[in-house]
Amino acid sequence: MTALLGILGGGQLGRMMALSAAKLGVSCSIFAPEDVPCAAQVAPHVQASYEDQEALSQWAQTCQVITFEFENIATDCLSVCADKLFPSANSLKYAQHRGLEKEFLSSCHVPLARWMMINSMDDLREAGNKLGFPFVTKTCRFGYDGKGQYVVHGPEDIDAAFSVVGADAVAEEFVSFVREISVVAVFDREGHFKTYDACENIHRNQMLDQTILPAQISAATEELAKKHAVTIGKALGHVGVLTTEFFVLKDGSLAVNEIAPRVHNSGHWTMEGAATSQFENHVRAVMGWPLGDVTRLGDIDMRNIIGPDMDHLRQNPPTKWSFHDYGKSPSLPGRKMGHLTKVSAAQPSS
Ligand code: AMP
Repeated sequence: MTALLGILGGGQLGRMMALSAAKLGVSCSIFAPEDVPCAAQVAPHVQASYEDQEALSQWAQTCQVITFEFENIATDCLSVCADKLFPSANSLKYAQHRGLEKEFLSSCHVPLARWMMINSMDDLREAGNKLGFPFVTKTCRFGYDGKGQYVVHGPEDIDAAFSVVGADAVAEEFVSFVREISVVAVFDREGHFKTYDACENIHRNQMLDQTILPAQISAATEELAKKHAVTIGKALGHVGVLTTEFFVLKDGSLAVNEIAPRVHNSGHWTMEGAATSQFENHVRAVMGWPLGDVTRLGDIDMRNIIGPDMDHLRQNPPTKWSFHDYGKSPSLPGRKMGHLTKVSAAQPSS
């Protein structure tokens, strides 16, 4: 059978996307280099490297539309399927390089922590003068969940920081935020968009641990966050889900932390907690269909299941929470294995 939707990447995001696509009658094909990626448990899988242009081009011919579930695929490799790729490589390139991302976000006139490019140890020393201590330095490529980052408390940390981030990095002001939020927005091919309610994200060991809604922010801050997320999506010409993460400061003002041009962990609550999930809306958008209703259905608590915590839950599947097992093994420490969601009747706002 010809796959209608090709998904680059075989992780849990691809798995949940393929399950949502199946609900809409759209069959998927997963393109990923792993032997048995977890998405391959729910959709056929072509195993090849993303750099294998011949395999990619052959696979692309079997797909009507192609999308991706993670961002670290070299954009050069995607030229063989550019005509059917949504979102386009333009959205991908900024998410692949923190320096380009920050330049792009600055050009969108959305608020950012003060930052500078780091190309040498001297730049890192200069960052202390410009940004003050502490500051955060982050590698430009392949950093995620706090990996490839270093908080520089004083000049004595510069050597250690440089050995972590190297000469292709950014430095940014340390933000004394009171909470972190994200806005999951979705853009169709015609320029229409919808934004889900802002989610409040609580991290443990720099990984997302819990998402709650409503976020404990004012209506004005939420509106502003949605406005910035839409400004960014429009400037990219984005099609599909785009997630924008923000720091919220004490006075309710915002700073954009980063963007992800894809479905996102902080949007998993939408599976039970919104009229249409982020996965379904992403599929709708990239297929060229109208977007579904994003209304939130109640108060939300979403918890990630990390590492060996899953072993216990597999023996005792929760009954009061919606339980999602990504089918991965082994349950290594730090590995995202699944999540739990509870939707409760909305409490009146105080
Ligand atoms: P990131 O990979 O950029 O999302 O960073 C991971 C986590 O590190 C964020 O969710 C924050 O909790 C923290 N963090 C990142 N950048 C900063 C910053 N400039 N100031 C304070 N904390 C930060």
